[in-house]
This record gives sequence, C-alpha cells and structure tokens, in this order.
Amino acid sequence: MRYLKLAELYKELSATPKRLEKIEITSKFLRNLGSSDREIMYLLLGDIYPEYDERRIGISDQLAIKSISKATGIDIKKIVHEWKVIGDLGKVAEKVILHKKQSTLHSHILTTEKILENLRKLPELEGKGTVNKKILLITELLTSASPLEALYLVRTIIGDLRIGVQESTIREALTKAFFKGGKKESAKIQNAIDKSNDIAVVFDVAKKGKLKDLEKISLQIGKPIKAMLAQKVTTIKDGFKALGQPCAIEYKYDGFRLLIHKNGEDISLFTRSLENVTKQFPEVIDYINKYVNAKSVILDSEAVGFDKKTKEYKPFQSISQRIRRKYHIDKLQKELPVEINIFDILYHDGKSLVDETFEKRTAIIKSIIKNHPYKIIHAKQIITSNEKRAKEFYKKALRDNQEGVMMKNLKATYQPGRRVGHMLKIKPEERDLDLVITGAEYGKGKRSGWLSSFILSCKDEKSKKFLEIGKVGTGIKEKKEQGMSFGELTEQIKPLITEEHGKKVKIKPKIVVSVTYQEIQKSPNYNSGWALRFPRFTALRPDKPLSEITTLKEIEKDFIKQKRNYRYG
Ligand code: AMP
Repeated sequence: MRYLKLAELYKELSATPKRLEKIEITSKFLRNLGSSDREIMYLLLGDIYPEYDERRIGISDQLAIKSISKATGIDIKKIVHEWKVIGDLGKVAEKVILHKKQSTLHSHILTTEKILENLRKLPELEGKGTVNKKILLITELLTSASPLEALYLVRTIIGDLRIGVQESTIREALTKAFFKGGKKESAKIQNAIDKSNDIAVVFDVAKKGKLKDLEKISLQIGKPIKAMLAQKVTTIKDGFKALGQPCAIEYKYDGFRLLIHKNGEDISLFTRSLENVTKQFPEVIDYINKYVNAKSVILDSEAVGFDKKTKEYKPFQSISQRIRRKYHIDKLQKELPVEINIFDILYHDGKSLVDETFEKRTAIIKSIIKNHPYKIIHAKQIITSNEKRAKEFYKKALRDNQEGVMMKNLKATYQPGRRVGHMLKIKPEERDLDLVITGAEYGKGKRSGWLSSFILSCKDEKSKKFLEIGKVGTGIKEKKEQGMSFGELTEQIKPLITEEHGKKVKIKPKIVVSVTYQEIQKSPNYNSGWALRFPRFTALRPDKPLSEITTLKEIEKDFIKQKRNYRYG
C-alpha cells in the first residue's frame, strides 16, 4: 500500500480528539484493508512488530535529526534550531521537506512494505558503522517521502506518533468494521489480542467476520503472554466478601514475575513486561528440565531470592540486578540464587488451560511438578473459608519476609493481560511517616506571601539531631475550606522562624506532620542521607510529640523493606 494513504489516515485521526470518531475513521480504513496488508496494523500502533516481539525501532532524536539533515542537505544546526522553535521533529521534517520538494521532486513512491523493510533492519544492526547504516536506511525513506509522509515517518521512528490510537481503539474499530459493534464481540476480540499479542493475526481472523474463528486464536509457546494482574483489597474479610468462600490463599512472594515457556527442549523465560530473560537464569532452565514433567508447558511464577547460607528469603531489590546483567552470569547465579514459586499454569502438553478453573489448574501443577525447595516449588497455598486461619497464614507470610498474600477464586479462569477481580492482593499499607518541619520557602505567583514548600526532618536517635529528608508541597490546599491550607500553615510557622535567607527560612522544630511517599532513595542532597520521592502531606499531627517522630533507623528499615521496582512488580 502507498504510505501516503496511511499518512492521510494518521492526519485524519489526529484532527479529532473524539474517541468515537477515531474508532469510526479506523474501522472504515480496516474494512478496506486486504489480508496482505495486515502488517500495517503494527504501523497503526506506531510499531513494526507484534507486541510480543522485543525488537523496537529505537532511534534517538539525534539520529533522526542527522537523517533529516542528510536527506535534505540542510545543516544540522538549522534543523536543531527549527526543532527548538516547533517542538516536534515530525513537523520539522515536514517543513524542510516541503521546501526541498520545490526544487528536487521526490524520486520514488513510498510503500508501507518498504517502510517496514527498512525500519525492521534498524534493530538488527550491531557493531561498527551501525550509526551510519541506520542513517542511510532512514535517509533512503525520507528522500522518497512527501512532506506529510515525512511527518509521520519521523514521528514513527522516534516513537511518538501522536495520533491518539491505542490497542483499545483498534479493538473497537475491528468490532465495528467486522461485527457491527457489540460488547460480546468486543470482548472476544480483546481475548484474542490478549492470547496472541499480535494485532495483525487478530485482524486477519476478524476480517472474516466469524466469532468462532476468533475463539480459536490461542496461546503460542515461546511467544510471551501478558500476565494476569491482581486487584487490591485491604483485609482478608474484604477478600472473602469479594471472592466468596472457600478460596485459595497464597503467599505473595516478594520477587519478580517470571513466565516460563517450555516446548520440548526449548525453554524461554519472560518478565511481566514481556522481556526475554532466558540467558540470565540458566539454573531455572535446569530446574524446568529436571523437575517439570511435561513436554510442553507455560507456567506463571514468582522468582524469589534467598540467602545461600541462612536460606532466608530476601527482598526483591537484592536480586533485581540478575534481571539486567548479561555478563558474569555464573558468578551472579551463585551469589544471588532464586527459587521459583509456581502459582499458575496456562498451557500443558498441547492444550491451553486458560479457560479451565484455577482449582483444576492448581491440580495440574501438583501433578507435574514436585517440590524441590530453594529450586522450584508450588507457591504456598491454603484453601479455606476460615478468616482466622487465613489471617494466621497472612502473618506467617509476612514473618517469612514476603509481601502479603494473594486470594484467588477457585472457579476463575486465567485472563492474560487483565486486572481481574477474582485474584486479589493484600499487603500491609505503606506506613505514614511522622516528620517535623524544619525549613520552608516562600512561594511564587498565586502563592506569594505564603510559605509553600516545607523541609521535613526525621530524628537521629544517636545524636538527637533532626536530619532533613525531603521537601513537601503536595497535599496542602490553596483554600482553607479544602483542608490544611498554605495560609494556615504559614501563620503557624511564622513565630517559629529562626533564620531568613531570601525566600528560604529555617524553623524551630515543632510542627509534626504525617506524610506518605512513593519511595525512599539514598540521597546526598539531605543531611539524613535519604530522600523521599513524591511525598504528600496527609495531616497535621499536633497529637504527636517530637519524641515520637520517625527515626533515622526506621527510615533505613523502610528502605530495606521497600517494595519492588515498578517495572517488574
Ligand atoms: P503487585 O505487584 O503489588 O500488583 O502484585 C501482583 C504481583 O505479585 C504479581 O504480578 C506477581 O509478580 C506477584 N506474586 C507473588 N506471589 C504471587 C502469587 N502467589 N500469585 C500471583 N502473583 C504473585
């Protein structure tokens, strides 16, 4: 297909912010798309491969600038200048190519096949001379591009298409184009997308308009599948209320999610973000080979680190480096061993199990895997209706250095990629910190005249000093009626000011506040050595004496306990 046709579609889609219109426009386009054009579906999502494929275009702004310069003969400095003024490299390419085209007409017609062919060579290039080769591949496309094509081509290569189309837009467009809309059909299409992770395959099947064929789209071993995700509840009681009784309760291990695919000799490991980490965990391959009695299988698990000597479980952070490191794997494997805790099975000996009940899937796990502690085990599980027993189990999980528990409905199916209400996580709430205000800064604009940013300190029990740990401005309101306001806080603080330097003031430690935060980080910027990320003011604590505020030691403990890196959670 001519790339111009696709570029015109992009333009039409960008022209409307309305989701329904975007769906209508896309569905019209899909209706006219032939089977041989199915890979255009990837381009529609700004990609060149299906989602399960790790290869991405990965071109930096700098490389795109060099390519635009080479294709047009315009100096790099001038392009950078335009970029600063316009703020969108795609638009810059459109503009400079428009000028260029008046003197030299473009040479070839650009097709989507040619775009895919060249862009797919980019992630394959490695080693010496790579940069120049990449520039050549992009330049070749740009010299054939019309201004509109150049706009979207550049946005595609830098991964910023800006047409407001997501997987869900495509799902609805497919439903509309081939099934006249409908909730049931939309759900089936989503299901097919979740199982295959390949929008082109789903398009191809949906195009024929038969729901039955969509249902046949299944998991494929070796192609990563999006993990099923859990919702959150705060208590065991709420968990039972949501799931009914009895239900399965399991340890919520504090490691990282690992989906294991075995097809005969072929074993691959994927993280929750579909990253292939097979090479990093040779021992896991060994355990699967030795201890899993199946020809083909897809398992869902949590890999957890443990101390080689004491055999105590360790928090996620302590083994996180194993995911990324590609060298000294042998050494790392010995120093930071992991145990694989299997909690689900999606496929077994030629058959997808995602539509079977959790109860049945658990039974299959037990029949094909024997427990080998510190290598591979079934996730610790009880099945109960008894709240007291469930709570005991929860406590035990925490004592075992795990994060909490998962509660699972015994009759539920496995829904890849979905955050489902039949699998619930329970973990202790992140603790609030009680800190004292020891400094502040006057605000600007609307907030001038008020102190608007407050330095927080914890207490060092040894030296009895207050040590700074962060700044908070979030959670405090402009107006008194909305809660704690800047005005009120300023009034309370003013009599406590001990020093003033420009807009900054130091304050006698007296006002205790509660804050929540997202993460504690090591930091050279504050004299405690720690910094809070995204602290948020939750309450004034006049009830808390200074002697009871959070200590440095407690901060250190929270840091160690701090839960998981978001990417692998
Ligand atoms: P969260 O990361 O807080 O959303 O919690 C969900 C994560 O807990 C999953 O993605 C798994 O990585 C992890 N997990 C640990 N143990 C289990 C278990 N027994 N069942 C399901 N997920 C678990």
